[in-house]
Amino acid sequence: MQDSNSLARIPLQPANMAPPAPEFPWPAPFTSAMFLSFDVDAESAWTAKNAQHAERLVTMSYGGFEARVGTPKLLDMLRQLDLRATFFITGWSVEAHPAMAESILAAGHEIGHHGYYHLMPDPDEPFLQEELERGFEVLKRRLGVVPTGYRAPSGEFTEELRQSLVRHGITYSSSFRDDVRPYRHLLADGTRGTIELPVTASYDDWMHGLSTRFSARSIFPKEHVLSMWKDELDETRDWGAMVTTVLHPQCSGRPMRLRLLRDFLTYTKNCGDVWIATGEEIAANYIHHETAGA
Ligand SMILES: [Zn+2]
Repeated sequence: MQDSNSLARIPLQPANMAPPAPEFPWPAPFTSAMFLSFDVDAESAWTAKNAQHAERLVTMSYGGFEARVGTPKLLDMLRQLDLRATFFITGWSVEAHPAMAESILAAGHEIGHHGYYHLMPDPDEPFLQEELERGFEVLKRRLGVVPTGYRAPSGEFTEELRQSLVRHGITYSSSFRDDVRPYRHLLADGTRGTIELPVTASYDDWMHGLSTRFSARSIFPKEHVLSMWKDELDETRDWGAMVTTVLHPQCSGRPMRLRLLRDFLTYTKNCGDVWIATGEEIAANYIHHETAGA
């Protein structure tokens, strides 16, 4: 129910006050970019919705697929295609599946922060700081990693979170849906926030490829998704802009979905003009041009 008091508190201004994204060039010879990224939620994708799912073993098994099959298969494919990616991993997943987390790091990929229990950042939630701090602590203790990138679990954000990421030294976040190029956040107090590498909603594999008792949706065949993904990429190439993938090993690590992703990444590589990069690399390119223009 909406009450008139809370409606009256909605600010009469855009929710995101960041200036337009600058049109910084991509490294030659590339004229557009793909931020290739995966979200490794494992079973925390399910316990975040309801902690009781921990005792629903088949629901949990969707997440368990990541360590048993999905992540190793994806790492093999990335090695065959000679591609580096960013893996945002929840702290819980690193604790529960240390060998999986170590294998991602050993393969040379970037590790990013993705919360601890995968709890969605929401206004006034008391666990926000603990999610951040425990996530940092586990990545450091288990992997020796101090992440520079952050993706919000379930893709939600608050002003408190934007400010906390700056305090924690995070360079870039990748959660917003409001642009096709990197831009820099502007905090409510007028100071600089992190760089944002905005997400391309159509590249969230979960939307088209995974259906379970507690996350029921239609599954689409390879041809439909590949056609959508190619069209999104080709128009983005014409714009000289960037796409960002949000891929989950519990979805894209399954046989049919992996075949789809391999075909799509092979297509993207063969375009020849798309810079397929990690978040760290794309943020560094942004900072290079931002500094040069300052
Ligand atoms: Zn996630």
